[in-house]
Amino acid sequence: VLLVTIDTMRADRLGRGFTPTLDALAREGVRFTEARATVPLTLPSHATILTGTLPPEHGVRENGTGRFDGSLPTLPGLLRDRGYQTAAFIGAFVLDRRFGLDHGFDHYDDHIPRDATASTRLEADRPAADVVGAALRWLEAADRARPSFVWVHLYDPHAPYTPPAEYLDAARGHPYDGEIAYADAQVGVLLNAVRLHAGGNLLIAVTSDHGEGLGEHGEATHGMLAYDSTLRVPLILAGREVDRGTTTPVAVSLRDLAPTLLGLVGAPTPQAMTGTHLPVRAGKPADAALPSEIYAETIYPAAAGWSPLRVLVDGRWKLIASSTRELYDVASDPGERRELSAQHPNVAAAMEAHASRIFASGTRTTGPLTGEAADRLRALGYVAAAPAPMALPSAANPRDAIAAWNRFEEALALAAGARSPEALPALKALADQHPGGRVFQAAYANALRQSGRARDAQRIHRAIVARWPDDPTAFHDLAVAARDAGDRDEALRAQQAALALSPQDPTALNGLGLIHSDAGRHEDAARAFEKATAADPANAAYTANLGNARRALGDLTGAERAYRRALEIDAGHADAANGLGVIHVQQRRAAEAIAWFERALRADPGSLEAQLNLGIAYQESGQIKRAAEQYRKVIAAAPGGSGERKAAQELLAALRE
Ligand SMILES: [Zn+2]
Repeated sequence: VLLVTIDTMRADRLGRGFTPTLDALAREGVRFTEARATVPLTLPSHATILTGTLPPEHGVRENGTGRFDGSLPTLPGLLRDRGYQTAAFIGAFVLDRRFGLDHGFDHYDDHIPRDATASTRLEADRPAADVVGAALRWLEAADRARPSFVWVHLYDPHAPYTPPAEYLDAARGHPYDGEIAYADAQVGVLLNAVRLHAGGNLLIAVTSDHGEGLGEHGEATHGMLAYDSTLRVPLILAGREVDRGTTTPVAVSLRDLAPTLLGLVGAPTPQAMTGTHLPVRAGKPADAALPSEIYAETIYPAAAGWSPLRVLVDGRWKLIASSTRELYDVASDPGERRELSAQHPNVAAAMEAHASRIFASGTRTTGPLTGEAADRLRALGYVAAAPAPMALPSAANPRDAIAAWNRFEEALALAAGARSPEALPALKALADQHPGGRVFQAAYANALRQSGRARDAQRIHRAIVARWPDDPTAFHDLAVAARDAGDRDEALRAQQAALALSPQDPTALNGLGLIHSDAGRHEDAARAFEKATAADPANAAYTANLGNARRALGDLTGAERAYRRALEIDAGHADAANGLGVIHVQQRRAAEAIAWFERALRADPGSLEAQLNLGIAYQESGQIKRAAEQYRKVIAAAPGGSGERKAAQELLAALRE
């Protein structure tokens, strides 16, 4: 069984000439032309795909926060119980195992290159060719006597759109379409290999987690609004038990995918899976009565201080409820241009009541503070008030604020491209205009810190944790700003508060380790980094930090092990290469150290520490002239008053004597 999810792929991109693989697959199987995601966000939508339940049921309702707790049966888990080997290959950090979608998988490959600063960018990704390559290597080694379930997630069509040139051409110069063309080609590579492996005994499902706005209804990307530009997705099923060349215009939900796949392999659907069996075989219509209504939601607008959206599609009607009601006749108006709630108030009211009931039936993953977490926050000096409600009933319909959101995404793209100072004016304006928007406040504060204004950032982050005391990320951000501002006391307290709310969070554990290291508490630091690397084994930066802490403790063997592991994860990790160099110098193997420092400098030419260390290695191995040259380089490059400059001056002076 092969499940492919192509992130951010609009339903209407099939059949336009640049998806030959998927078009051919659709001709071999059943294509659902009216399939919708349950939420236009990557993590919650995939949680639906894997559990066959709605977001209020599985509890994962946002990206980047909370985790699926495994309390519901999953498609991979149920197949594993039936003897399947289960493996997942992930294209972006947003689906990292820390968010819990690894439940049921024997193998969960989420080795996404991390940001060098070890910050957790949800957008960190790897190209489709790498994901498919990893899947093919696994398949090569898989046990052919046993069935397999493989999930491959390709992230490429997600913004920014930067397809390889030949696919940009194939899509007539449209970058978004070019990304889809590239993903389609990689699905082709995957399918060829999988068909060879499985022979005729293969069941394939291809879909997406959500679409993309591309400017429709004013929305550039996805997540903030709930129009069909972002809710409708492609859905193709093909394989032995599936009809050939059928196109089905019946409205279906991605909640139905897991039960359908289970049914097709002859497995019972557990009660907890509330999706239904989709009709994929003539004469064997699965469940007699397909539910006519499709539920969807997005609570993402609440992060901006706006109203979450509840969606219900029932026959020709689609309702989007926020602080206002929008009703569309999607049968005659698929573009959702004519709003009809005034003409059909009873329909709108009844649908809203139903959607709101479903919406409120579940829980948020970031639920109210538990007593214990609240106690710990208070002990750390923070007011553990009740968390702010998800949104006030009067909060704006995000539709009316979408222009501000687009400005926000543009500013964030600048900040992510190391141009934070340029993003500051726009972020400040948004933060001022939307005081109830947590993401605006946090993004402004983070950009201030990245622009070298850590004290200003710290002040804003303090206000954020006072207002949203249930948000571990807010406490982590405060800790990072306080550390940059040199306020070790608040850095430690805030990081501990983040861990009180989210004890296993690797980012917060790594942050705690750094704070301990600053203060010379290397044993505490090593313990924190060990936990961080256990929670996020694919993170080279955390592993290199563990090496640094062990080295500071004099555990050179343990340090070397950590550095080498970091370089296995990321061959270009400067800090790990530098650390190995230092160990070699300490072991009086300076000549061997030179190559490590050179490797560190190839990865990060601006590293003053590695430049200085290279000078020391030259000196220790008797290359005095080169050492002097290297020290002069450091003196020229290092800012006045820096430790590296001072050390280089002293070493150079000592050489002259
Ligand atoms: Zn996505």
